Amino acid sequence: MTAQADSVLANLIRTELLPRGVTDPRVLAAFRAVPRQAFVLPEDTSRAYENRALAIGRGQTISQPLMIGLMLQALRAGAEDTVLEVGTGSGYQAALLSELAGSVITMERIPELAIDASTRLASLGYDRVTVIEGDGSCGYAPEAPYSRIIVSCAAPALPARLVEQLSDGGIMVAPVGTLSEQTLTVATRAGDEIRQERRGGCVFVPLVGKDGWPDTAEEPG
Ligand code: SAM
Repeated sequence: MTAQADSVLANLIRTELLPRGVTDPRVLAAFRAVPRQAFVLPEDTSRAYENRALAIGRGQTISQPLMIGLMLQALRAGAEDTVLEVGTGSGYQAALLSELAGSVITMERIPELAIDASTRLASLGYDRVTVIEGDGSCGYAPEAPYSRIIVSCAAPALPARLVEQLSDGGIMVAPVGTLSEQTLTVATRAGDEIRQERRGGCVFVPLVGKDGWPDTAEEPG
């Protein structure tokens, strides 16, 4: 990262992430390692370290750093974990995940975004991330189970097939609620039991797919 990017990132961490509870040193180290400016549109590079979601085209967004930090902290991913991410978008969160976990499979339903993210991640050297184009609401059975699942779009309920693909002791983090607002939900599997803990409110673009919202529900968020 450039010295200027370093200093605005340090400011983001000090003024937005730490005061709002993102304190896990591994998560903060991941933020320091991944250049967010490489994942935003060229016209937004000067705003890359503002604490806001930014448009990435196709009506989609790269999520707000604070929300990503809270989700990654709740996910508690370590080097032994295999992560499934639903909603690749720009690939930024997948890059952060690869700093924390052993391997990352990330799914994106919009072909152009999947191709761009895959190219970007490869050019930046994130070779433990695999981008799969397809409906992530149904998960990705060929590589299941996953010890961590993170959904970065809004689901009407915890998607049943994602729950099935979560390994025993695994953790899933997902925004669950209506199209206009959701609650960050942390689900933990203990045998056949799924414990759900509800964290704060959030607003994400919809999870569109068989176990999500119908295609017609698409609206920015
Ligand atoms: N994690 C992303 C990043 O770091 O840029 C931001 C994700 S963006 C808020 C949500 C993404 O989920 C969008 O790119 C959208 O196309 C994708 N999406 C929505 N429904 C999906 C589905 N069923 N399967 C895979 N991706 C989906």
